[in-house]
Amino acid sequence: MEPNQNNWLRTNWIEKGNAQRIFVELKFTLRDCNSLPGVVGTCKETFNLYYQETDSEVGRSLRENQYVKIDTIAADESFTQGDLGERKMKLNTEVRIIGPLSRRGFYLAFQDVGACIALVSVKVYYKKCWSIIENLATFPDTVTGSEFSSLVEVEGMCVSDAEEEADNSPKMHCSAEGEWLVPIGKCICKAGFHQKGDACEPCGRGFYKSSSQDLQCSRCPAHSFNDREGSWRCDCEDGYYRALSDPPSVACTRPPSAPQNLVYNINQTTVSLEWSPPADTGGRNDVTYRVICRRCSWEPEECVPCGPNVGYSPAQSGLVDSYVTIVDLLAHANYTFEVEAVNGVSDLSRTQRLFAAVSIATGQAAPSQVSEVIKEKVQQRSIQLSWQEPHQPNGVITEYEIKYYEKDQKDRIYSTVRSKSTSATVNNLKPSTAYVFQIRAFTEAGYGTYGPRLEITTKEEATAAIVSSEQNPVIIIAVVAVAGTIILVFMVFGFIIGRRHCGYSKADQEGDEELYFHPGTKTYIDPETYEDPNRAVHQFAKELDASCIKIERVIGAGEFGEVCSGRLKLPGKRDVSVAIKTLKVGYTEKQRRDFLCEASIMGQFDHPNVVHLEGVVTRGKPVMIVIEYMENGSLDAFLRKHDGQFTVIQLVGMLRGIAAGMRYLSDMGYVHRDLAARNILVNSNLVCKVSDFGLSRVIDDDPEAVYTTTEISSTVPHFTEQGGKIPVRWTAPEAIQYRKFTSASDVWSYGIVMWEVMSYGERPYWDMSNQDVIKAIEEGYRLPAPMDCPPGLHQLMLDCWQKDRAERPKFDQIVGILDKMIRNPNTLKTPVGTCTRPISPLLDQSTPDFTAFRSVGEWLEAIKMERYRDNFTAAGYSSLESVARMSIEDVMSLGITLVGHQKKIMSSIQTMRAQMLHLHGTGVQV
Ligand code: AMP
Repeated sequence: MEPNQNNWLRTNWIEKGNAQRIFVELKFTLRDCNSLPGVVGTCKETFNLYYQETDSEVGRSLRENQYVKIDTIAADESFTQGDLGERKMKLNTEVRIIGPLSRRGFYLAFQDVGACIALVSVKVYYKKCWSIIENLATFPDTVTGSEFSSLVEVEGMCVSDAEEEADNSPKMHCSAEGEWLVPIGKCICKAGFHQKGDACEPCGRGFYKSSSQDLQCSRCPAHSFNDREGSWRCDCEDGYYRALSDPPSVACTRPPSAPQNLVYNINQTTVSLEWSPPADTGGRNDVTYRVICRRCSWEPEECVPCGPNVGYSPAQSGLVDSYVTIVDLLAHANYTFEVEAVNGVSDLSRTQRLFAAVSIATGQAAPSQVSEVIKEKVQQRSIQLSWQEPHQPNGVITEYEIKYYEKDQKDRIYSTVRSKSTSATVNNLKPSTAYVFQIRAFTEAGYGTYGPRLEITTKEEATAAIVSSEQNPVIIIAVVAVAGTIILVFMVFGFIIGRRHCGYSKADQEGDEELYFHPGTKTYIDPETYEDPNRAVHQFAKELDASCIKIERVIGAGEFGEVCSGRLKLPGKRDVSVAIKTLKVGYTEKQRRDFLCEASIMGQFDHPNVVHLEGVVTRGKPVMIVIEYMENGSLDAFLRKHDGQFTVIQLVGMLRGIAAGMRYLSDMGYVHRDLAARNILVNSNLVCKVSDFGLSRVIDDDPEAVYTTTEISSTVPHFTEQGGKIPVRWTAPEAIQYRKFTSASDVWSYGIVMWEVMSYGERPYWDMSNQDVIKAIEEGYRLPAPMDCPPGLHQLMLDCWQKDRAERPKFDQIVGILDKMIRNPNTLKTPVGTCTRPISPLLDQSTPDFTAFRSVGEWLEAIKMERYRDNFTAAGYSSLESVARMSIEDVMSLGITLVGHQKKIMSSIQTMRAQMLHLHGTGVQV
């Protein structure tokens, strides 16, 4: 009853541990002041909650000014004295969040300023993500971050006997709500181990796993074994080997047996050998042959290696074919030849060599080559030569023959000189002339072969003039002319091939657009198809007189210059608010073209959900584009500014507008490529309009910028050909990977816009890097439902993010679904608890007994389509009989867009119909 109450209650000092964001849950009852007589002016119905951060306990004294106010807490439910004098106590629960906290602990304090209040309980807690094992990595208990939107990135530790996959270390993100989100990367079981559940187990005996990349352990290959667990390879049985290059997965092998059927043929001092392959290749297909040659004396029989003077054709070892020719043997000598088959493991084997052998005696032979010739004296008209006897005279040399000819004549005309000794002089030669000499020896067995050619030039008699043709001007002119022609051809082709569409190339409308193209509607024309871009502008945009435009203030920064607001007063019309985009002074011709290109595109559209072009000013300075004024600016900033202030119906209304605008654009065959909340404008009536038909993007070096080139990971090819930068978080995977921009990729972006809208302008994928986003999407991760998001809307987002673009809904269907939701607000109710739903598998082939189900819900659950329960309820299908009458059109009209789901539900309905007919003997008319 006394005024100016100020009563404080303080908690003990609470140590905060690792927590940064603390939740305080208060339960209290509060009495309604009206029910207390005589307290008007003194009674209050609220109390205040405070906190103070300290590093340690500060004793019992309490100084009010050291406390920070958290909130004034009011009761949702106060209680009064009942008519009969009984009290209906009503317990209120309020939760407040404090943070980020930086000291070691804190006090909570409650200030009562005159309320009749009972504080029943105070629960102080923080949230954490509980330790889990995911993808063979352990993630420890993790306390959530300090902000509502922050994700704590946590590195996973591989479980024992696992290792990180190369360049793909495991990571997860702990959300502010204590949920693990976005697993990326993984661990894999080491060599010798395989995965069982969340652990790696050793391969059993007789099994091996050679690399962490292999998934399973394999049985030991032939002729190998192991008797240990956890082996990465198997050992070879005795007598079997593995070559260094053999992988652990191939069988162990052994050296081949000896070649078979060795035969020979002698021609004077040349021997040819031939044989057949060995009976046993040792289990390998890399068999080659080698020949060992030995020369033997009769008495005593002794053999020595043949040495380097003997030649082998094609080679002595590494022979792939089963023959060899051995040349330059000595005449009248005895030889032994061994032919051995070898394979990749022959050198590893210590068993005895296996070979085929023959012994041969050579016959009479001519002398070998005269190879070492020296020029003794060179004169104007004569040359004196000397030489060594050949290595293998094969008898007594009685004469040498010297053959010579003028080099220019080749050996078409040659002369010979004979000599009994190992020197000779050749006379009657021409001065300054190059001659070629070759010498051969003669014995009883005939002439040997000529030795190598030796070139000698006789001395000169007089000096001759040298004429150079090096710098012949005619040649230079010819070369320049040819090079010039080639460059010209390249330039012409380069121009034709490399002609770019409107900078950012919005207008590159190739691909399967016909899927989305509705005949009968106006078709978008790429302004770039106009040879003169000025003509395109005036074809699609009205030229305005600058005097009709009044610029009032700057409202934003566009890519080519300032964006202003102002008024447009056309003769005979009311003046209207407009936004005016200006082209900054000092622009290049290309900038002017790209700037006006947006007007050429926008001017072709006429739809309530696409920003409207009023006209352009190209004949004055500055060059301007005049657009209808959108009072609330861009959608992302607008939502962030009004966080939490709209009803779900209002948000869905905005989304419906955007979808309608996009339906119009896709019907015209226009692919936007950059649909994002930042490119939607909002007017004063909350009408959303698609905008930004901007072309070339600002090139930004920051890899985390919204627009980035796709040099993001090795799995993503690098595109430079169109010079485009891609808004990664908004873009469909096929558009990132191979630039497949279609209306279906616009649908993906639309799904992201839905998420932005439902989360009031939250950044998609929060602070994850672009690279991680691409990886996570590839691994099947999709954004979870934003807070308070109806499941039906999140399901629609997930449908827009189908990997297979043919499975995504069309804009037309999206508009239909949203319309239905708006008409049946029940479908937009958020169930208490979580919003997120896992993506369920598409088809389950088992056929349940439909007559056993009691409700539509039970039936949907049995066929794993319970996600559509609300759709059925909202459309009034409450009994199985009514469901059994449904046609495919009915199913589609429920907003079930996935073709696979439509089919599954329809086939189940047909079975149900058949079962009902069987049971009741009555048909269900459709
Ligand atoms: P833009 O170059 O189209 O991205 O425009 C830059 C900024 O100017 C936008 O983010 C908006 O805030 C603002 N703006 C552009 N067009 C309009 C418009 N028609 N009405 C109101 N504000 C606009």
